[in-house]
Amino acid sequence: MSSCIFCKIAAKEIPSQVVYEDNDVLAFNDLNAQAPVHVLVIPKKHLSHLDHAAAEDELLLGRLLSAAAKVAKSTAIAETGYRVVTNIGVDGGQSVSHLHFHILGGRQLSWPPG
Ligand code: AMP
Repeated sequence: MSSCIFCKIAAKEIPSQVVYEDNDVLAFNDLNAQAPVHVLVIPKKHLSHLDHAAAEDELLLGRLLSAAAKVAKSTAIAETGYRVVTNIGVDGGQSVSHLHFHILGGRQLSWPPG
């Protein structure tokens, strides 16, 4: 059995507040929200991060971004704007080694990020 926490969330072995789900993708509220809306969009298939996506994953990557846009609409941040971020590796600040896109919105976000 995988020890990856997001694989366990995808398998419903660890509970999460699901915002969107289809065959390949799960979106759920971040436990430590950094904005009024902070949702994580993950592939159900384990990929450590974007760099580990192969040519065969291109469709899946598109589905993840489409899911992000759906989440933005369903959480009512699409009109005012939002941010989609994926952190990669140590310098990127990645803390969970399972590809995920952060959807952040519901307040004015600053730029550049720290
Ligand atoms: P990152 O630092 O980009 O790898 O983001 C990992 C995110 O996962 C952080 O924002 C955490 O708050 C979030 N997180 C960790 N464990 C859980 C969990 N069990 N349920 C929901 N979000 C989580």
